[in-house]
Amino acid sequence: MNETNIQYGGRPSLPMQGVPQPKRDEVLGLPRVHISTHPVMAHKMTALRDKNTQPPEFYRLVKEIGMLLAYEATANLALEPTDVETPLERMTGRRLAGGIGVTPILRAGLGMAESFREVIPDVQIWHLGLRRDEHTLQAMEYYNQLPHKVDLQVCYAVDPMLATGGSAIDAINILKVRGIPRLSYVGIIAAPYGLLKLSQTHPDIDIYVAALDESLNDRGYIMPGLGDAGDRQFGTFN
Ligand code: URA
Repeated sequence: MNETNIQYGGRPSLPMQGVPQPKRDEVLGLPRVHISTHPVMAHKMTALRDKNTQPPEFYRLVKEIGMLLAYEATANLALEPTDVETPLERMTGRRLAGGIGVTPILRAGLGMAESFREVIPDVQIWHLGLRRDEHTLQAMEYYNQLPHKVDLQVCYAVDPMLATGGSAIDAINILKVRGIPRLSYVGIIAAPYGLLKLSQTHPDIDIYVAALDESLNDRGYIMPGLGDAGDRQFGTFN
């Protein structure tokens, strides 16, 4: 940390001030990173970013965008054969093999957990509360509803904003300890800085986002971004 982000009294005030950040072009080719190119997604993203979009509409858009992301992120799920009887005859169908978990990082990830539930109604939802310290941007765990019994083929950590990457990295660390065979991160907007950090720290996971933005501002907000995804979903403005 350099001197410019130490406030009088030794407390860091602007945590990203003076921190070098990669450019968008430098992270576009990262392995296992999937950035949506779908026109419907781009259309919904513009409405989501609009500062005039109010919380009820914002939450609805988060859910819709999350459903499109869930559809993309689940494209490689394992299947197993199962018998089914149509009104005309028996056939062998296919069903998802093994459980599917979603870990919303509280509280901003809640809307996206609902998206996954819409796409796959029997997902298990494992809530995880990580709060980032406004000054240091370090993530701190304050709530954990991860069950001890794990029987999942995959778990998706969901959080709309991949900013510094701190919460996403911590969430994946916590999930890795549970021994789940496959983990992915699903977010709505990534900053190049957080995307690079997450991809370098956890090169064995897939990362799905709807958009890759330009940078983080000095306070760690994604630019141009959409502001605070939690406040905008839940209407908690100061
Ligand atoms: N979290 C948010 O809600 N927005 C940002 O821009 C960064 C982190």
